[in-house]
Amino acid sequence: MSAPVPEHPIHVSLADLSVQFALGRPLFGKPPMVRAVDGVSLDIPRAAFFGLVGESGSGKTTLGRAILRAAPVTGGSVTYRDAEVEYDVGSLDKAALRDYRRRVQLIFQDPYAALSPRMTVRDIIAEPLEVMGLTTSREETDERVRDIAARCRLNLEHLRRYPHAFSGGQRQRISIARALVARPRFVVADESVAALDVSIQADILNLLKALRDDLRLTILFISHDLSVVAHVCDMVAVMYLGAIVEVGPSRAMFAQPRHPYTAALFSAIPSLDPDERGRGQRLEGEIPSATSVPPGCRFHTRCPFARDRCRTESPEWRQVAPGQHVACHFSEELAARMNRPGRRQT
Ligand code: SF4
Repeated sequence: MSAPVPEHPIHVSLADLSVQFALGRPLFGKPPMVRAVDGVSLDIPRAAFFGLVGESGSGKTTLGRAILRAAPVTGGSVTYRDAEVEYDVGSLDKAALRDYRRRVQLIFQDPYAALSPRMTVRDIIAEPLEVMGLTTSREETDERVRDIAARCRLNLEHLRRYPHAFSGGQRQRISIARALVARPRFVVADESVAALDVSIQADILNLLKALRDDLRLTILFISHDLSVVAHVCDMVAVMYLGAIVEVGPSRAMFAQPRHPYTAALFSAIPSLDPDERGRGQRLEGEIPSATSVPPGCRFHTRCPFARDRCRTESPEWRQVAPGQHVACHFSEELAARMNRPGRRQT
């Protein structure tokens, strides 16, 4: 008997990934191109709770959709690996694409809009199994539905009811159960708690963490809310105007961000510590349009530390701590200016 092959430590790799599309149809000339994702390379480790953060318009949702093969990839590649398969996601045939769609699922943002009001909770959760033909009898489907409902802390009596009978938090549990019933390995959770009251958010985040451990899931958690990301994620990538500018273990990054954009985002997190409140670099101005990305460092139009070199030369990636990488010409020099003693730890 041959020895089992160890699982690759990287679950999903993006290599120079780009998603661009034309904006409208002008009467004359070429339409402007939106560079929604612009040459992103990123490794998402197996079983990570991996945060992807940035302002609205940074391209994080498009990046998640590119992994799901729901956005038009115009350059680079997405590679998916688990113990059974390795896929170049851009070149899947029909059968492989069906299999990939089982392995990689999306948890929707809005639990109110995601659930059909005319279906019972049982039918909502069972639908992916039936559409993908993953079970052979009603009994088997019911067993799978009951199993995932229990893991998502839904009562079995809930399965007979309709979505309108539930609160926002319960509806999000139903959405999560539906996303996980096909036993995916990789889940994209796009602003999955943004529509919920703060009191419910922690409950759903703790559920996602428990499910990650229980089912050995990898979760790509897309959020604009840094305090939420600090609460749950092991690793964080920070996205600005279509590109990743910093990536690393979340504890290290929250303790010592090394890119001025990361530092500005993190310093905007409300703090209970009066000494911390209002300190740090504030982010001025709006994110530029993705149709006219500034040359050089794309953050230079808002960076308080920008110099001439930043306006013409795109920064290379550099490692600044174990596992922590940043794209800034002056990250070493700026570290002391951006990170004061006593900065909050997560
Ligand atoms: Fe700021 Fe220059 Fe660093 Fe970009 S490269 S973040 S503009 S200091």
